[in-house]
Amino acid sequence: MPRHAGLTLGVASLVGTTVGCLVLWKLINRRRQQQYTGVDQKNSCTGLTPEVQDLGDSVRKPSERKRSLLSVEKILRAEVRIASTAEEWETAWPLLQRDLDVYPVLGVDCEWVSLEGRIKPISLLQMASHSGLCILVRLPRLAGCSLPKTLVALLADCSVLKVGVGCWDDASKLMNDYGLSLKGVVDIRYLAMRHRRDIFQNSLSLKYLSETILSYPLDKSFQLRCSNWDADEFTQDQVFYAARDAQVSIALFLQLLGFFSSDPPTAWEFFLGKCQGLIDVPFKGKSVVNGDVNIILKQKKESPIEQSSPNSQGDPRRHKKKPLGVGYSVRKSPLYDNCFLHAPDGQPLCTCDRKKAQWYLDKGIGDLISNDPFVVRLRFEPSGRPESSVDYYLTVKENLCVVCGKRESYIRKNIVPHEYRRHFPVQMKDHNSHDVLLLCTSCHAVSNYYDNNLKQQLAIEFSAPIGCEEGVRILEDPVRRQVRSAARALLNASKLPESRREELLSEMRTFYSTDEVTEETLNEAANLETRIFNETYTPHGLKVVQCFAMGGLKSLMELEKRWRQHFLDKMAPKFLPQQWSVDHNHSKLIKKYGEDLPIQLG
Ligand SMILES: [Zn+2]
Repeated sequence: MPRHAGLTLGVASLVGTTVGCLVLWKLINRRRQQQYTGVDQKNSCTGLTPEVQDLGDSVRKPSERKRSLLSVEKILRAEVRIASTAEEWETAWPLLQRDLDVYPVLGVDCEWVSLEGRIKPISLLQMASHSGLCILVRLPRLAGCSLPKTLVALLADCSVLKVGVGCWDDASKLMNDYGLSLKGVVDIRYLAMRHRRDIFQNSLSLKYLSETILSYPLDKSFQLRCSNWDADEFTQDQVFYAARDAQVSIALFLQLLGFFSSDPPTAWEFFLGKCQGLIDVPFKGKSVVNGDVNIILKQKKESPIEQSSPNSQGDPRRHKKKPLGVGYSVRKSPLYDNCFLHAPDGQPLCTCDRKKAQWYLDKGIGDLISNDPFVVRLRFEPSGRPESSVDYYLTVKENLCVVCGKRESYIRKNIVPHEYRRHFPVQMKDHNSHDVLLLCTSCHAVSNYYDNNLKQQLAIEFSAPIGCEEGVRILEDPVRRQVRSAARALLNASKLPESRREELLSEMRTFYSTDEVTEETLNEAANLETRIFNETYTPHGLKVVQCFAMGGLKSLMELEKRWRQHFLDKMAPKFLPQQWSVDHNHSKLIKKYGEDLPIQLG
């Protein structure tokens, strides 16, 4: 026993056994709490106090309660790792992966700061596995070039649940700040409402849930909540605080679904079933109908440097939009029917979908040669024939994700994003299907993340900023704005000092090139349109295509090739259709039109 604990015991025996035992109990608990992470928690609330243990879980058997307390303790005592570099992430990742192979679920939380009332991008992403292993990812440091693929894919993987309080809002912010898609989110508050009847719904904070369900008091002190998450080095308190929120989240999830009390452990699918209908659903709570949803929204930690005002703009909680990339509509029917069209002499021309093949039959311009596969022979000479029997359009394409091979759900992916392709000359728009591939939702989200990186790279290379289109297309004219407010002041403020009045009138005379400012002019000026069309505005995609087009057809093909190569490099697809190539159609086009084809952009 440590010296100071022994001393306390000595003093306690003098004061009285009852008081002494209580002090000792508290002391042991405090020490235990410190051991959870090896962090000194001078300022924090202490561990599992007997008073709190009785909250909410009185229905459970004592042995069960003890087992779950021990499990929660184990989680809170687990290892915490900080990933500030790609290398640090790559060393931590296999450990996390090992845990995810057992139970694919992570407790998640995010921290950010605000500066002068502006909310900054997420500083820290915390993820804790079922064993309690917690990785603190310092996103701004890792995001320097592009984030590690294993991290991007993990976040986008909807088969790995991400559980927490307010994780839908975290998902929105991750998308806004880093273009990251967080999928498979489950708000613990829904689980609490579904599985526990003894909780008071209007105060579902992580702190309340932790105390009620885990009997674990959470210290949410302002100093820690609002500490500087962008600091060069975290304090031990910060590490403890950040990790604990993710660890408590996973512990809550496990406790609510009965992981701790099932012996032997039940299969993951059983627990997954308990989350049905709650995955990737924003938390609304019951009281949303009364318009007071804000009181049950997560109490976020804001502003180490300056507390932001409650009305400050940019707070993601105010933006109830769905995060981009969430809510993909997945194809229900296969994209490729793999029907064949043949020329009148029997030469295979291309594969096509069933509808198209049927159309030739219905029109009486084709004959059905076979049902399986569905082959239609045309009765007329087609406008073009494939040059060889290994043509891309002749290969049978499988309905699966070309990256990972998943067959259950897939969506179309434009390898060359539409915002560039739409401006391509008509000659290059033929045969587009080569650049439309099938991806599962997770791989789709990952590839979108990397597409944004390349887009940003192109924006720099070709001085083609990616902006909110409206913001760039329409400009606010400061001169017209000034004239409008001058007119409004002249019309409304009758007690303007004469000198000010003359000043404003002079502004009006200059703007309207007149010596006399009438009442009519003032009224007109008071309603002056101050937004003007930005004549020099060119959308990012068009600007980039224009730059490539200056080098002619071959140069434009380089842009196409760059996107295709980018897809291969970043996604390493394992199930690409045979004959798919980064140079697809290029030599054919050059042969047909020549390198000097005058380029007319679409
Ligand atoms: Zn996939």
